[in-house]
Amino acid sequence: MTDTNLSLMATLALKKLAANKEYRDLFLASDTLRDFLRPAALRYIISEDRGEMLDKLAALQGKGYRTGVEYVGEEATTVEEVSSATDEYLTLIDLMAQHSTLFEPPQLGFDLSNVGMIISRDLAIENCSRILKHAADKDVGVIISMERSQWTDSILDIFLELSGHYPNLGITLQAQLNRTPDDLDAVLKTGCKVRLVKGVYAEPAQISLPRGVVLNERYLGLLDRISGANIRYAFATQDPLLVSEIINSEIATGGELEMLHGVRPELIKGVKDQGLIKTRVSAVYGTNWYLHLLHRIAEFPENIFLALDDTAAKRQSASASKY
Ligand SMILES: Cc1cc2nc3c(=O)[nH]c(=O)nc-3n(C[C@H](O)[C@H](O)[C@H](O)COP(=O)(O)OP(=O)(O)OC[C@H]3O[C@@H](n4cnc5c(N)ncnc54)[C@H](O)[C@@H]3O)c2cc1C
Repeated sequence: MTDTNLSLMATLALKKLAANKEYRDLFLASDTLRDFLRPAALRYIISEDRGEMLDKLAALQGKGYRTGVEYVGEEATTVEEVSSATDEYLTLIDLMAQHSTLFEPPQLGFDLSNVGMIISRDLAIENCSRILKHAADKDVGVIISMERSQWTDSILDIFLELSGHYPNLGITLQAQLNRTPDDLDAVLKTGCKVRLVKGVYAEPAQISLPRGVVLNERYLGLLDRISGANIRYAFATQDPLLVSEIINSEIATGGELEMLHGVRPELIKGVKDQGLIKTRVSAVYGTNWYLHLLHRIAEFPENIFLALDDTAAKRQSASASKY
């Protein structure tokens, strides 16, 4: 088997594991498993603690990065889970505003499935509106993540509904989905911020493109349309080749490179140090990080070696010091 086939096999296996609810529940129920995997997760999770997370974001801002933050969680299926996630975001907005060393409030990101979308459209709109209003009062930008394709219609529907009321709202679009070039027009008409990603979920071949040249071309074509629309936008990718192609072209001007905390810090630092393009480090905090860890390894299966090393050494990686 070639290295490429092995990597693909590992990626698909990790994405399958990530999609398996039984294993996700097992993780939540097992302190031992969490303790074992924690050193590997802390390479990507900025902190399990909210206060420490804010201090670390302030330090990143001090180095010249814009920042973003998301409370790591799962699809919430009960009203209690939904209320707890919504409260977390409302509290977080207050704490951002009160923090003494943050230069500007970090951009807040979340999944609509965390705030009620699985229970009902109305509940998601109600909670999302509360967060958006509170965020607007404190000058916080909000970006909605894009989830599995079964939810794309619902997420776009809720985003379009809220976009007219909250200019601080933004949306993530996945280049891998075949529908995205068609969805883009309606999204651009809102004037809201767009964050373009390739897409992290394993989707059926009938509705999506696999990783490769054709997907990269579609990504660049979408970014070209977005950058011409006179809106705020981010190209969120950790692909060194794509980053190099984008920052050496006009489609980067006016946009920002956004990368996840702990992933290739030297890549985003290089772009930041050039001083031509804005950069944003998007961090995730909290204790329910099993999915986030699996996704970061699935994107680049070689990361399994780093995870093994972190786990065996029982120490937090020093990757954050590379910013
Ligand atoms: C800020 C941000 C927000 C995101 N929000 C969403 C979202 O809402 N919905 C969604 O579906 N997806 C989201 N993603 C994930 C995204 O869809 C991709 O899965 C992820 O960015 C990997 O794709 P890629 O473009 O970086 O490159 P890929 O094509 O996956 O990989 C190309 C190369 O990039 C490098 N690379 C990629 N990932 C890593 C990694 N983890 N570690 C080391 N090297 C890596 C490797 O060299 C790899 O060979 C987000 C990503 C970012 C950065």
